[in-house]
Amino acid sequence: MESEEHQKGKEKFKEGKYEEAIELFKKCHKKEQRAPFYSNISACYMKLKDIPKAIKYARKSIEETPEFEKGYYRLINAGENTREYNSSVMIAEIKLGRERKEEKYWKEYYSGNEEVEVKRINLEYGKGVFSKKRYQKEEIIMKEIPIIQISKIEDYYNCCGFCLKTLCSKEPKNKYNQIFKEINKEEIIKCKCGMKYCNFKCQQLDYTHSLLCNKLKGLINYCNINHISHPLCIAKIFATILISQNIEKSLFPFVVFHSSPLIPFNSEIVPFFLNIFGSLLLKFNIYGGWTFIYQILYSVLKYNSSSILPLNPIQSLLLNNNSLLIDNTLLSSSLINHPDITAFTIEAEGLFKYLNTLNHSCSPNCFLANTDDSFALSLIASCPISHGDELTISYIDNTLPYSQRQSLLYDSYHFYCHCPKCNLMI
Ligand SMILES: [Zn+2]
Ligand SMILES: [Zn+2]
Ligand SMILES: [Zn+2]
Repeated sequence: MESEEHQKGKEKFKEGKYEEAIELFKKCHKKEQRAPFYSNISACYMKLKDIPKAIKYARKSIEETPEFEKGYYRLINAGENTREYNSSVMIAEIKLGRERKEEKYWKEYYSGNEEVEVKRINLEYGKGVFSKKRYQKEEIIMKEIPIIQISKIEDYYNCCGFCLKTLCSKEPKNKYNQIFKEINKEEIIKCKCGMKYCNFKCQQLDYTHSLLCNKLKGLINYCNINHISHPLCIAKIFATILISQNIEKSLFPFVVFHSSPLIPFNSEIVPFFLNIFGSLLLKFNIYGGWTFIYQILYSVLKYNSSSILPLNPIQSLLLNNNSLLIDNTLLSSSLINHPDITAFTIEAEGLFKYLNTLNHSCSPNCFLANTDDSFALSLIASCPISHGDELTISYIDNTLPYSQRQSLLYDSYHFYCHCPKCNLMI
């Protein structure tokens, strides 16, 4: 049942008496805290062309009731013509499952790269990455460091907390252990919480650690039991966002990625996040609450991140010297992929601004690889590339037969492939 004031408010709105309608809706909200009142007030301010207030009340309605979809529509309508509200509008669009038609949200963010250009292909394919130069086969097109990165949970204490370089000899022990220790002992810094860094510089660069140090134990345990590292990665992302002076701006690099369909929220992690961030999490309320943002970030990581396998210290030494003598053992570069040596490699994953915007093809013209001992990934041409070509990589093992490729792509990434190789099959 609508109250008398609510009905009166709606009448005033129809009559164009927006100020009076606002007062009535505010009264309604005092009596009964329901999102539609704030949403109605937002609509009134839109009519009055008071955009900041229209945005303010749209956000209040989302904050109060994240499930109330109309609040997101109000926010999109109010925020659409302002430059400052990109990420909240994008988050609203994700919530509503709406195709992101507005290039203005990301065009500027992706501008200014010398090697590649990010453009929209069409509504079905979304964005794509295009070459600005010519490249020969096996040439490195660009090298990128991740926006966020984390090792597999099993390797969490075996590598640098920032650049993921192997720092500890991992089990099983083999005959290269001694060599590993010899080349890997200098400069390592250990935090009181157990986290290790290559050196002082890496420790400084991991600036979110100050917010997380000694608070992660419960979450690490949870991740260990479940063999997952995404919750830890999201804790790191949350720290990045909460430490920054501008939540909007620091959320944007993450929400710009593809994230639908949203993966259901797992409430088991709630106590861990409350324990780490406490009331800081309230800062996410105007974006629909921290659990909603968590859900988006989880989906973004699942659909977009790349695996990172930094060369371990023995491999990078072998690369720089064709052969070397350590501890009376002669090592040659032909050993670089020997299982006893690759056993020292850290498995990790990260999110890359450009590299994770590359589209898939089953006959790609590029591939990704780690070419040094850091977390930087290189984009390498697998055939000659011309200026203006779209750059593609394969998200899966592209030697699989057609039907397996299609079902794998659909199960993991929710699309069917229409690349030239697949179109030949139809
Ligand atoms: Zn490091
Ligand atoms: Zn620490
Ligand atoms: Zn294909």
